[in-house]
Amino acid sequence: MSVLMKAKEAAERVYEEIAAKAENWKRKGVLPRIATILVEGDPASAYYAQAKRKIAGKLGVEFDLHSFRAGVSQEEILGLIKRLNGDTSVHGIMLELPLPKHLSAGEIEKAISPEKDVDGVTPSNKLATVTGERGLYPATPQACIKLLKHYGYTLEGKNVTLVGRGQTVGLPLFHLLQRENATVTVCHSRTPDLASHLALAEIAFVAVGRPGTVTPDMVHEGLAIVDAGINETEGGRIVGDVSADVAAEAKVQAISPVPGGVGTLTTAILYENLLKAIEIQFGEADKG
Ligand code: NAP
Repeated sequence: MSVLMKAKEAAERVYEEIAAKAENWKRKGVLPRIATILVEGDPASAYYAQAKRKIAGKLGVEFDLHSFRAGVSQEEILGLIKRLNGDTSVHGIMLELPLPKHLSAGEIEKAISPEKDVDGVTPSNKLATVTGERGLYPATPQACIKLLKHYGYTLEGKNVTLVGRGQTVGLPLFHLLQRENATVTVCHSRTPDLASHLALAEIAFVAVGRPGTVTPDMVHEGLAIVDAGINETEGGRIVGDVSADVAAEAKVQAISPVPGGVGTLTTAILYENLLKAIEIQFGEADKG
């Protein structure tokens, strides 16, 4: 039977640490606060924002939801970000994606202060992800690695196949895996024979955004797969990028479920980043 790498326990551990740190900061008079920017129109984003609000409540973190109508202008959002950047009571800023077509997520993300950028989307945090310098790294790639390690896997010297080189997950994950000293093969839409690269892998990360990208005929029993994909089927079900048959037929050593895998841990890492952001804003010596 394949081990199902569920994220609940790993996420709870992260939350315990965050709650303790948040409590320490409060004793020093700092009330951790995150601001989330949501543009109406995407029901999934609205759902995720509310889910994050609920978690903030449990962690003792203040959560401000800034909700805009679908027709909001880019300038209005940039104006809010400018205000939030200058507001010392706000320690983290997050933009819910996707945005309506008339808005540029890239331009809006660039406006966020790097010290408050809990999603690791600003140019300087992207660079820090590459170089390993201090900064706020993107949450989902961190969650992929943390989930795997929670189940006792190590990365140093391992053959890793990474499927997907997108800006949000694959590309930053590649850099984090380099620093874990894994030997990484990156596959993408022009890779002619994905199966040949999975055959050589001990560990695979899949972040494509297409259900059924990895099928049972492509995998082997010595493989552990972390599936970062989130896809909605026509019936409204959430599925990953790896076909459900892979786990059902026990074709691999271990696999992370969707939902209940990478996504679950990603939310926890966002709050871990918020506490890191506070450390950065108040100086390394004054840890919570
Ligand atoms: P993206 O920017 O669209 O990148 C997709 C990548 O997949 C690209 O590199 C693309 O190749 C590659 N690709 C497309 N078809 C392929 C195929 N048939 N075989 C191999 N590679 C293929 O996506 P993203 O924003 O990084 O997101 C990836 C997935 O992660 C999505 O399902 C997204 O919903 C999910 N996600 C999950 C979380 C979470 O919290 N769990 C957070 C963010 C995103 P090219 O580069 O050649 O185009």
